[in-house]
Amino acid sequence: MARVIAMLNQKGGVGKTTSAVNLAAALASRGQRTCLVDLDPQAHMSLHVGLDPDEVGCTVYDLLIDRDRNIEDAIVNVDERLDAIVSETDLAAAETELAGQAGRHDILASAFSSIADRYDVVMIDCPPSLGVLTLNALAMADEVFVPMQAHFLALQGVGKLLETVGLVCQSANERLQVTGILLCMHDKHTNLAREVVDDLESFFAEARDTDLPWRNCRVLLPPVRRNIKLAEAPSFGQTIFQYSPTSHGARDYGKLADGLLERWNQDGSGEEEISEEASEAQGVT
Ligand code: ADP
Ligand code: MG
Repeated sequence: MARVIAMLNQKGGVGKTTSAVNLAAALASRGQRTCLVDLDPQAHMSLHVGLDPDEVGCTVYDLLIDRDRNIEDAIVNVDERLDAIVSETDLAAAETELAGQAGRHDILASAFSSIADRYDVVMIDCPPSLGVLTLNALAMADEVFVPMQAHFLALQGVGKLLETVGLVCQSANERLQVTGILLCMHDKHTNLAREVVDDLESFFAEARDTDLPWRNCRVLLPPVRRNIKLAEAPSFGQTIFQYSPTSHGARDYGKLADGLLERWNQDGSGEEEISEEASEAQGVT
C-alpha cells in the first residue's frame, strides 16, 4: 500500500508546491514509485512537472465530478518512477458542484483504491484552503506534512496552525497524523533555524503521549534554503533535479528525501517484525 502524504498549510506561498514536486522527484530518483496529485485549481504543480492541463484528457476535476471515470485515464508519466495527476482551473468549481453530495469527501480515496498498490508514495499538493478539495486529500492521506517558513513561528505560533490542521485532520480521517514540518525558504542571515527547530521539537515532545494528531510530528531536516533555482525551475516545467541538479535546492530536497527514507525504514522494520510475530502467534493459538 502506498504511503499517502498531503502537503498542507492553509496559507499560500509557503512552499507546498515546491516541496511536493521536488520531494516527490527526490524520492522517485531513490527508487520509490511515486505519484504526484495536484489538488490546487492554480495547477502550479502540474506546470512545475511540465504538464499542460489543457493537453491532459483527464484531470483530478474529472475524477471528482464523474465518479465512473477511470483513474487510469488521469495518470501521466513524467519521469522514471514518477507519475502525476494534473489539476485544472475548473477545479475551483468543484467546491460548489459537489456541495450537498453524499460522500463528497471520499471520492478521490475511492478512485485511488484500485491503484494504491502501484506506488510506494503518493504526494498530494493541497490548495491554500480547507474546503472539499483539501478534505478529499485528507480522507485518503496517512500523513500530513506542513511546509512553513521559519519566521512563521514568531509571527503566529505553530500551535495555532497545528490546531487548525489537526482539527481538520481528525474530522476527515481518524488515522491521519501530522508527521512532518518542512522549513522552506530558509534565510541564512536570520539565523533562527536552531531556535525554531528547538521550539517546535519541544512543542511536539509535549504531545508524544497524547492522542493529538501531531504526537509523532518531527521537524524534517535540513531546512530548505532560499534558492533562486527553486523559484526558476517551475517556469521551465522541470524539477530542481532536472533544472539544476547541483544547486542548494537540489541538495536540500535530496537530503530531506534521504532523511525520510531512513525514518521510514526504521519505522517499517520495527512495526513489521511486531505484526508478523503477532500474526504468527495468532495462527498458533
Ligand atoms: P505554495 O504552494 O505554498 O503556495 P510555492 O511552493 O508555490 O508555495 O512557493 C511560493 C513561491 O516561492 C514560488 O514562487 C516558489 O517558486 C518560491 N519558492 C519556494 N521555495 C523556495 C526556496 N526555497 N527558495 C526560493 N524560492 C522558493
Ligand atoms: Mg501551491
